[in-house]
Amino acid sequence: MTERRPRFQTVVFDVDSTLADIEGIDWLAARREPAIALESEQLTARAMAGEIPIEAVYTRRLERIRPTGTELLMLASAYQLAVQPGARELIAALHAAHVPVHLLSGGLRPSIMPLALHLGVPANRVHAVSLTQDTDGTFSLLDGEQPLATQRGKPLVVEQLQLCAPIAMVGDGSTDAAVRGVVDTFIAYTGVARREQVVAVADAEAASFEALYPLLFE
Ligand SMILES: [Mg+2]
Repeated sequence: MTERRPRFQTVVFDVDSTLADIEGIDWLAARREPAIALESEQLTARAMAGEIPIEAVYTRRLERIRPTGTELLMLASAYQLAVQPGARELIAALHAAHVPVHLLSGGLRPSIMPLALHLGVPANRVHAVSLTQDTDGTFSLLDGEQPLATQRGKPLVVEQLQLCAPIAMVGDGSTDAAVRGVVDTFIAYTGVARREQVVAVADAEAASFEALYPLLFE
């Protein structure tokens, strides 16, 4: 694949339900009592479908789950086991073509960093939500202002990064679709979850990482 010409100067990937077939927050919630797990899952689904803004649910889910440091590391392992087929190879092909790959996630940075290293994405190209410890030792608080925990966070961060254009964004959720206007192409990734509201506004749709090659390379 290295001889193929890339269509974009920068490619940005969402993480949850795109590079990996889990939603990190829901994975943590599943370790709690069923009522907390169900509430988290429903809130995530409604936020990703664009029915409610993500900031309305973000801190509420964290405060209910109250993840420990150990659980954040366990989630990191779960992410690596849940990597979508071909994702690592596609990122390697982009890097071979000198296309920087960024991860842009509303997920938790301590759990996403090991996945990024596994995928060959350097730490300075990983943009996610940082947490800080609460008085009980759990990581239940946002570490100051965290734009990626908000609905407009992704376009805001893409703009601030001043990435080389043309830029492609690949993601499954409403927070990914919000980058339309600040990137050149938004590709709805439907290999894990297919959300009609997201596909409807996307420039293209890919149901697998194999299907991304003709969209990202000439
Ligand atoms: Mg996602």
